[in-house]
Amino acid sequence: MTSKITHLLFILLTSVYCFAQTPSFEATEGAFVFNPEKKPCLTEQQRNDMRLTVETGIASLKHQNRLSFSEERRGNHPLFSWPIQKANTVDFNDVWAISGYVDHDSEFNNNLLDYNCGSRTYDTSNYNHQGLDVYTWPFTWKLMDDNGVEIIAAAPGQIVAKSDGAFDRSCDFNTTTPWNAVYIQHSDGSVAIYGHMKNGSVTTKNIGDMVTEGEYLGIVGSSGVSTGPHLHFEVYEGVVDNVLTGLIDPFSGSCNSMNADSWWADQKPYVNPKINAALTHSQVPNVFPPCPTTETPHISNTFETDDTIYFAAYLRDQTAGDNIQLEIIRPDNSSLFGNWNITVGTTASSWYYYWYYSGYFDMVGEWKWQVTFAGETVTHTFNVSSALNVDQSDFNQTSVYPNPFNDVVTISSVKKVTSATVVDVLGKSILSLNNTSEGINSIDLSHLLNGMYFLIIESETKETKTIKLIKE
Ligand SMILES: [Zn+2]
Repeated sequence: MTSKITHLLFILLTSVYCFAQTPSFEATEGAFVFNPEKKPCLTEQQRNDMRLTVETGIASLKHQNRLSFSEERRGNHPLFSWPIQKANTVDFNDVWAISGYVDHDSEFNNNLLDYNCGSRTYDTSNYNHQGLDVYTWPFTWKLMDDNGVEIIAAAPGQIVAKSDGAFDRSCDFNTTTPWNAVYIQHSDGSVAIYGHMKNGSVTTKNIGDMVTEGEYLGIVGSSGVSTGPHLHFEVYEGVVDNVLTGLIDPFSGSCNSMNADSWWADQKPYVNPKINAALTHSQVPNVFPPCPTTETPHISNTFETDDTIYFAAYLRDQTAGDNIQLEIIRPDNSSLFGNWNITVGTTASSWYYYWYYSGYFDMVGEWKWQVTFAGETVTHTFNVSSALNVDQSDFNQTSVYPNPFNDVVTISSVKKVTSATVVDVLGKSILSLNNTSEGINSIDLSHLLNGMYFLIIESETKETKTIKLIKE
């Protein structure tokens, strides 16, 4: 009960899910280490299969005269909306972060250049990353299990191929398992590929069917060559002479070597800081269990006054030097510790912080945990109720006899009863007694009419108990 602020813990995640890495962290202040070995999202074989899938799908629809695209519309590319959406069952503030863009440096072996002339991409000895990787955060596997992050169509178009039924808990690149994916051709002939979907989640629409912008396509998963749930989104200008061609990076920027203009209706900023969640936990949140174990978040919004409460903030795209403001607010709107600030030490695509306290939750009611970052405040509410301590539970066992009674009732309690009030069924007070010196052990109620009453008693330590009495 007397323990003070115990600790400030930093734990971080640097999630780059197409990279081979083994998350590790220290549960005190410390750094996160990951394996910098880099491997592609698709093996070369799978990449060839994927291209063939698109080419064959389009050729087949064309042959059946069902292809929606016609040549005269070529060149007018769509403007994409964001292909990721939080399911309405998830109450996090946001659920995604970006681990990799398209690599525009044609050299391999760690020669990296994203559209913005940064290095938020990757390559290998024979592959430059060709898509956008968006991963789920926080509690990445839990979000997948809960169908928490949906992949939706970035633009209207025709399903030219799709695949489902593949294992979806991949943790490494040594797999020959295919991915679950949807391939959509837009009205200008361009093609968008949505890959790594959860097994069984792929849209039930058929090849050849049309989809609207924002329509559900699947759930973010980890099928195929993947180290965790993420969407790989890859775009081509189209199929020419039966060959998928013209890789696009939908982001416009001075180092985009593929296309000058943005393919986004509203291009997101390169660094896009956000509070993905402000949460309270009953135990240390289990954020990085060994892949592919689902995290145990220990999220709780109901506590008792003597509990330890863990206050966590889960951020996206934090930059060293950024400021985070934090506050715990009591039910009467007073601040528990005042507003405190921390300065971000490390630039990362995702990171989390937590603090834990016990012995401070002295007020019953609805509390608030408030995090302010990047111009946004997220307020999380939680409830604190009174802890039933040993003394109180002893008082709870107080009884009155006889009941039903005729004239005098005797109070049996391990604690001294210092006040007693009898009210009738309408709530009208009939009798009120106080005796702080010797306590109240019996009450003469012989003058009452037959019927039901309530006896409200209070102990010397201010616990109260209400007992129903029947006079007959
Ligand atoms: Zn990828």
